[in-house]
Amino acid sequence: MNPVTDLKSMTPEELERYFKELGQPKFRAMQVFRWLHRGAESFDEMTNLPKDLRERLRAECVLTVPKVERKQVSKLDGTVKYLWRLGDGNCVETVLMRYKHGNTVCVSSQVGCNMGCVFCASTLGGKVRDLTPAEILDQVIFTEKDSGEEISNIVMMGIGEPLDNFDHVLRFLELVNHPEGRNIGMRHISLSTCGLVKQIDKLAQLGLQLTLSVSLHAPDDETRSRLMPVNRAVGVDLLMETCRRYFETTGRRISYEYAMADGVNDSDEQADRLARLLKGQPGHVNLIPLNEVAESPLKPSRRVRQFQKRLESHGVTATVRRKLGGDIDASCGQLRRKRIAEGEQTPEEGST
Ligand code: SAH
Repeated sequence: MNPVTDLKSMTPEELERYFKELGQPKFRAMQVFRWLHRGAESFDEMTNLPKDLRERLRAECVLTVPKVERKQVSKLDGTVKYLWRLGDGNCVETVLMRYKHGNTVCVSSQVGCNMGCVFCASTLGGKVRDLTPAEILDQVIFTEKDSGEEISNIVMMGIGEPLDNFDHVLRFLELVNHPEGRNIGMRHISLSTCGLVKQIDKLAQLGLQLTLSVSLHAPDDETRSRLMPVNRAVGVDLLMETCRRYFETTGRRISYEYAMADGVNDSDEQADRLARLLKGQPGHVNLIPLNEVAESPLKPSRRVRQFQKRLESHGVTATVRRKLGGDIDASCGQLRRKRIAEGEQTPEEGST
């Protein structure tokens, strides 16, 4: 028997097979599925299971329960940022944002990231490992449990590149969407990618109703490759071709992220190029004033409104993303970095 059976990463069908092998009735699968998705913290809590079964599960299975390593609440808008400590000691971040249309969580998909975008705090130090489906799901379950707030929307815009952890992310989506679990509809989920074209094509074939966000950040190869090393392999033209194909296959319009850095990607000429790039496809541009990261020399643009107007003059719809949690390092990766830096200075744990 595999000593690290991860029941929370399993679908109900897989759980049924698992319990069948243990000689248990079929309905055990759904009993356990419900407990796990409600945030049970031990098998002993699962009081409708026979005691000997609970003991067996305790011996043979992992039950992931992330611990709140740090929690920051914004005084400005109530945004909450969690730094979770995982079973193996690694940390990831989750942000809870309150909007009129409901509470949204921003979840991480990896510990660190390999994509190397120069403005991003999550990628400093590279990728440590992928998160399991259960560990991604836990961020939704335990944010809800800790805050007492119901979550209705999910954005996969935390630490990591979700399409670089494709299978686990897809499994997470299936689990969080399940009616007997968190039951969050695909139309309430956004997934953000730096533009891994093979995986975008693969995702298109699945025809999910989620919103795909593509981090574009520049309309030309020179600027984009400077900001995002991933562009050196793919290039803007192939990326846009892939995005067009995604729209044609799924009928879902893409949301383009554009983080604006002073003097780098915020000129009128770049707005014109961006508008040309989006011609003929119903996309939407999200302009994000760059969040300053201590390790990066890039500064936030001062031309966000002008850039927006210029895009609109070409008929491109662009919104400026409202900044939430400005007082709590709410852009992902920053809190984890801080914790790592502190850890390097003071090896003792637990100082918050
Ligand atoms: N790897 C995925 C998702 C994680 S980042 C992606 O690249 O899309 C979520 C969004 O935040 C991306 O658009 C990313 O480029 C952006 N981002 C990262 N660091 C930022 C910063 N310092 N300021 C503004 N946006 C940033």
